[in-house]
Amino acid sequence: MEKVVIIGSGPAGWTAALYTARAQLAPLVLTGGQPGGLLTTTTIVENFPGFPEGMDGFELMTRMQKQAERFGARTSFGTVESVDFSRRPFTLIVDGEPVTAQTVIIATGAGHKHLGVPGEHELENKGVTYCATCDGALPVFRNQPLVVVGGGDSACEEAMYLTRFGSEIHLVHRRDSLRASKIMVERTLGHAKIKPVWDSVVTEVLEAGQGKVTGVKLKNLKTGGERVLSCAGVFVAIGHMPSTQVFKNQITTDENGFIVPQKGTMTNVAGVFVAGDCADHVYRQAITAAGAGCAAAIDAERFLTANP
Ligand code: NAP
Repeated sequence: MEKVVIIGSGPAGWTAALYTARAQLAPLVLTGGQPGGLLTTTTIVENFPGFPEGMDGFELMTRMQKQAERFGARTSFGTVESVDFSRRPFTLIVDGEPVTAQTVIIATGAGHKHLGVPGEHELENKGVTYCATCDGALPVFRNQPLVVVGGGDSACEEAMYLTRFGSEIHLVHRRDSLRASKIMVERTLGHAKIKPVWDSVVTEVLEAGQGKVTGVKLKNLKTGGERVLSCAGVFVAIGHMPSTQVFKNQITTDENGFIVPQKGTMTNVAGVFVAGDCADHVYRQAITAAGAGCAAAIDAERFLTANP
């Protein structure tokens, strides 16, 4: 029987692990399929306090894991397949095996949003990708025109990263101003290789019978005009969806699937807590997720003291 099981291994998960480990609760962290979470796909994290030179996302997550493990957190590279939160102790099925827990901290984060246009799914990993840092250096993208879709910090970061490899980067955004932070906007629009395509959406990813991306069909939302833009890669960076499917019908979410905490970090189930991007569609920062992980750990510890 586990005292605390933490589902997810991003900043929220590891911070919850650090705090519950230091409270001598020996938490079990289930990393899920992407240990370290989405931050591991970022190049340099420049806004996490304490690292004036910036810090590689993967390195930051590795350090958080080591710090939590130093105090007794245990790591399992398991994925939760289903949960039964109807009674305590809670039961989780992890890669086919049951795990029982007195408390659970959900820190499952979020996954990439998809465009939902023809060709996107079919050409995934054949030129369509959701992670420039993972795939940008592939030979197929070298010295080729590339498309990045989105107008937030992620899209800017992806576009900047891709300037190392692509011949030109077309940043396709559905409005005529970027949502990203000012510093990212300045860097992105100031880069000679990045060409914004305003007020436009991708309506289809094209392969011209070649089995790999050859271009995109674009629609200008103001004029209605359509055109084809040749490119070898489409990097989709249009935000994230909370990874909360596995808790459906047991944990209260809003209409977009974000978990709605009831009191502090407590969910509608007493003893199940939540932290990070799976419950946050507003701030969505590594540091706010870490802060929420700390709060969830303190809440879980107090709950265990009151409900041994
Ligand atoms: P985001 O801020 O939600 O931006 C998503 C972008 O995609 C928006 O520009 C949005 O357009 C566009 N979009 C959404 N759905 C679309 C669709 N179906 N078709 C076309 N475009 C669509 O997401 P994000 O950039 O991933 O950032 C998430 C959070 O992480 C933010 O808080 C961000 O600050 C943070 N972040 C920070 C850094 C950093 O500081 N280094 C790096 C990455 C992310 P609209 O603008 O019209 O809504």
